This record gives sequence, C-alpha cells and structure tokens, in this order.
Amino acid sequence: MQKIITNCLCVDISSEGKGVIKNGKDIIFCDGIFPNEKADVEILYHRAGVYFGKVKKLYNLSRDRIQPRCKICTSCGGCQYQQLDYKAQLKYKTKRVKEALTRIAHVKQEVLPCLGMGNPYNYRNKIQVPFNKDRNGKVKFGFYKENSHIIMPIKECAIEDKRAAPILWDIKLLLEEMNIPCYNEDSSKGILRYVLIRTSYHYDELMVVLVTTQMNFPGQRNFINELVNRHPEITTIVENVNSRHTNVILGNQEKVLYGPGHIKDDILGLSFEISAASFFQVNPVQVEKLYASALNLIDFNKKEVVLDAYSGVGTIGLIAARNAKKVISVEINKSAHKNAIENAKRNNVDNIEFHCADAGEFISKYDGDIDVLIMDPPRSGSDETFLSTVMNKRIKKIVYVSCNPETLARDIQYLSSMYEVNYVQPVDMFPMTAHVETIVGLYLKDKK
Ligand code: SAH
Repeated sequence: MQKIITNCLCVDISSEGKGVIKNGKDIIFCDGIFPNEKADVEILYHRAGVYFGKVKKLYNLSRDRIQPRCKICTSCGGCQYQQLDYKAQLKYKTKRVKEALTRIAHVKQEVLPCLGMGNPYNYRNKIQVPFNKDRNGKVKFGFYKENSHIIMPIKECAIEDKRAAPILWDIKLLLEEMNIPCYNEDSSKGILRYVLIRTSYHYDELMVVLVTTQMNFPGQRNFINELVNRHPEITTIVENVNSRHTNVILGNQEKVLYGPGHIKDDILGLSFEISAASFFQVNPVQVEKLYASALNLIDFNKKEVVLDAYSGVGTIGLIAARNAKKVISVEINKSAHKNAIENAKRNNVDNIEFHCADAGEFISKYDGDIDVLIMDPPRSGSDETFLSTVMNKRIKKIVYVSCNPETLARDIQYLSSMYEVNYVQPVDMFPMTAHVETIVGLYLKDKK
C-alpha cells in the first residue's frame, strides 16, 4: 500500500478505541479519528493482517468531537475517548458490547445503555507518575509517551482525583529545593523513581507512596515534614524500595514514614483497608453501581450458596454474603487472597470462606452444591475447565462481570447449549478510555 492514503473515511471504532478505516479490502487502524470523519492517513506499519496509520490531515469533524481537557490525551495512550462527547463515549461502549455479543455469541437479549457517571472526570483514586530530571536539572514528572519511556510533563490529569496534582507539584518543588536526585533510567542512578497517590472517596484520607532506589534517602525527614506541612490532607506516607531495572512500579520492601501506612474506603457500606500495593477498584463511584446492579440479579433470601470466582480482595463476595447463606470465594493471587481474609474480619463477615487456587481446578474438585455463581475473570476471560464444570454442575444462575466484551462473548457462546442470557448491562468504570465493563445474567435452560 502507498505511504499516504488521502480522503479516508472512518467507519467504526475498534475495541482499543482506534478509528477503523476501510481502503478497498484493507483495514487501517488509526488514532485520533472517529466515525464519519475523513482524513489523509500515513501508513506506519502492517501487523496481523491490518495496517496502522497516523492522521496527517483531518476533515469533516464529527459532531461528537469536543475539546479535550488534557493536552497530552492523544499521546499518553490513557484516554482514547477524551475528544469524544461523553454521551458518544457511552454510545460506542454500548455498541461494542452489543456487537461482540451478537457476532460471537448470537445473543438476542437487549443490551441496556451503558451506565455512565454524572461527572466523568477526576474519578481515579490511584495515580502513579514517574519522576525524572532533565538536562537543566529541572525535575520533571508526568506520563510516559505511549510505548516509550519519554516523560510528558502535565499540569494535571483529567481523570485523576483533584487532590493529587497539587501534591505532585509540591513534591517536584521540594526535590529541587532540597536537591534530592531523581532516578535516571539510563544510568540507573538517583533516588526517587515514582510517586503513587491513593485517595479515599468516603474519608478524608490520602496516601503518598515514594518509590525509591534505596531506603532512607538523605534529607528524608525534612522532606516528609515539609510535604506534610504543605499538605495536611496527606494522612500517611510510605516508602517503597524498587532498585530493579524493570517496568514494574512497586518493589517488595516497604517502610511507613508517616501515619498508619494505609487508608480506608467503603464500598456499599463495607469498609476496606488499602495499603500501597493492595488491589482496589479505581473508580469508587461506578464500582458501587457495578456491584449493586450485579447483585440485584440474584433474588437473595439467605438460602443461597454463592461461588464468587476470580474474587480479588473479596469485595463482591463480602457484599453478597450479607444476603446469602454462604459465600465461597476463589482467587489465584496470594496477596489478594490474604487481603480478602482481612477484609472479612474487618467487616465481621463469617459466612464466607476463601480459597487460594485456580478457579477451574477449585470448582472441578468442589463437591458441594452451588446455587449462584458470580464470576469476574481477568481480561482473558475464563477457561474450558471452569466453564465445563459449571455446566456439569448445572448451576442455576450465573452473574458474569466482565472487563472484556470479546472474551465475555466467547465464554457465553461456550455456555450457550445450556444457558440463556437474560440481562446485559454495560457499566462505564473508566470514562474517557475505550474500556467497558459488562454485567451479564445467565440462567440454566429447562431440560428438553
Ligand atoms: N472480583 C474482583 C476482582 C476481579 S479482577 C473485584 O471486583 O475487585 C480478576 C481477578 O481474577 C484477579 O484478582 C486475578 O488475580 C484473578 N484470577 C486470574 N486468573 C485466575 C484463575 N485462573 N483463578 C482464580 N483467580 C484468577
């Protein structure tokens, strides 16, 4: 194909939020172009049967296009949809779920409109940014340019909690004033690598995590005192040491420098303790809608035995336990499993048990009765061992919570000889991005 294709029409949005252009038989995926827009496109490369391009000149701007709040939204790779009006974002998310379910699983059930947020900005309760020093000795922080380690400085991110940016700016000033060296990836020298901020939605609690290359950096005490002086909203500061040359942000060694070392937050009236490394849902407003809609599908009357598979830190299971006879949770990750046990104790929930295992292996060995299955697998979806055992056990009701419509549809197709879909509700957990979460209700068909 020639290098520049002129006057291309964008016909769709891909699951990753890229514009889809048809050029004869060829498909071109392109960032920054939305359906019905036209552009001249430069072809960059060809991979797995499709071309990837870059907009050179855009015409016919879509009526759904808006001015983004963030200047780097097209290059940091985090917010594929920030240039789209929020109503249009929700429309495309609903469409993506509908198309995946009809194309892959031939689902006939109506797909409800994607459940959005009142204010779709500043929702993230976890923010992590790299710090670096430029050639002139100025400290830089921001987000990496997509697929690179080049830091793009940013005043504030449009989707992070508003409390984060002023703290990040003062950390930058303090590092400069106190001459504390930032990490340099090329030389592996320097001290501060990342700053992670976690905020509580329901409480005035805020955690700052300093990811450093060594424990106890020079001037640490003064730095902490000054930071807390300037930002009394900080309730705890943790130092996390990561000296490895890797993309993983947190290391294994940790020291509490100020406050209790954790914050707390609530989901639907249950309380959770969050430490530097804990997994916790990042959108505190939408998670309540997600869980409430999912659990609403089960007509609880304290008699049900519920299996909460892929349970993470136990959040959904713990909420379900309030109205069920018993909940059995299974999660493969050891630290999430440990957190789940602590969360049950913290909330005095005693009709729940936790198993640290592969969900498929666990269920195939489990010989008790299960009335309801709640499953919330990772992006790759579930697997045949798990799903075939669900079918063998003839579990009557399934509530499937999914973060990937395509693997969701594949798994529903697998279950379709025995299960019928009776509810599909997409939920927008990540406004401004192309991600969409879906709740699906399935019930066991009558034996013919
Ligand atoms: N339900 C939770 C977490 C969902 S994320 C919540 O709402 O917060 C998916 C979880 O599945 C992760 O915690 C991951 O560790 C776990 N997981 C991934 N593969 C698994 C497997 N094969 N068996 C059990 N759990 C698994």
